[in-house]
Amino acid sequence: MSTAGTTRARVTLPKVASERLIGHLAGEREGPVFLVSGGMHGNEPAGVHAVQRVLDSVQRNALPLRGELIGLVGNVAALAKGQRFQTRDLNRNWTDPEVRALLASDPAQDSPEDREQRELATLFLELGRSKPHPLCVLDLHSTSSVSAPFLIMADTLRNRRIAAAQPLPTILGLEELLDGTIMGFLTERGHIALAMEGGRHDAPATVDHLESALWMALVANKNLSAANVPDYHDHARRLAEAGAGLPGFLEVFQRHAVSPEDAFAMDAGFWSFQTVRRGQRLAEDARGVIHASRDALILMPLYQPQGSDGFFLAQAISPRKLRLSTWLRRLRAERLLGFFPGIARHPSRDDAWVVARAPGVERVKAILAFFGYRRCWEEDGRLVLARRRPGHKGRGRL
Ligand SMILES: [Zn+2]
Repeated sequence: MSTAGTTRARVTLPKVASERLIGHLAGEREGPVFLVSGGMHGNEPAGVHAVQRVLDSVQRNALPLRGELIGLVGNVAALAKGQRFQTRDLNRNWTDPEVRALLASDPAQDSPEDREQRELATLFLELGRSKPHPLCVLDLHSTSSVSAPFLIMADTLRNRRIAAAQPLPTILGLEELLDGTIMGFLTERGHIALAMEGGRHDAPATVDHLESALWMALVANKNLSAANVPDYHDHARRLAEAGAGLPGFLEVFQRHAVSPEDAFAMDAGFWSFQTVRRGQRLAEDARGVIHASRDALILMPLYQPQGSDGFFLAQAISPRKLRLSTWLRRLRAERLLGFFPGIARHPSRDDAWVVARAPGVERVKAILAFFGYRRCWEEDGRLVLARRRPGHKGRGRL
């Protein structure tokens, strides 16, 4: 893997394993730092290949990069073994208390994934302290099922700006359903953070999709201009064709979590974005048959032994509703939410609202989702709805 840059790199990276750094390029002109990772799951090498292609092309063609581009391997040891992970999913355990505990613990006791996470967390925190802010992070993945490419992000306006520039479906609400993801960790520090699913692990088009999305994200983040990217319009067309006929934005309303003792088995033949009907048989586990709870689009049905998400169910969001929500959030209209019956400010969190469990609660939840409050849990018999804080403070601290 090459680590040479076209010019002198400006941000200083903490020491990382040489296999982790695919490359670090710095342009002559000041600009944002763009971080791209592949292989966060070790059985997904397509992302690593896509990063290599783009870094090679930027160097070979001496493209006029603004700011810096850093390419990383996520789970170095699992990638070498071709496994999703060795002891645990590297894309979990990223809540602040978990990261703090890991960094304070003895490295000699690290599990294989602890070792990976320690290095990545140190890198993210140190880059978060350096200027310029925010970082733009794109994490490249692939799926076990057949799938059109799509983006996943926490619902912040900064993330929406980068996602909206891509002609691909974007999934909202999924990141908020999972606790302790890398994207959540980065978004809470005010960074732009998106994950991309390029298609099935072994499909040749998957690397192409991931490469095209990386070029388009570099342009959307103003690290490159479209005019300087070789074949930019071919990349845009490729993604537009792959996403043709699919909704621009979707929201996930259900995650089917699985653990090894469930003996979960997805029925054969499902693919991402396939329409399923209420009551349709989807899978089976030790407790019996699993049906769709309502009409939906199914996402990421699980067809590999490792993994804790059986499938997700999603619905399209109308573009009009999305535009209205962006506009109201820019106006900070959520300040008025406290006037709605049944909604009250959370006593101690500035990023959350408390909702009484009463008739009409689903409508109240929909209103809060409109403003990005999609994380939901229960406290003292009442629901708490929170959103990722695109905060400007604490970016390099824990
Ligand atoms: Zn993955």
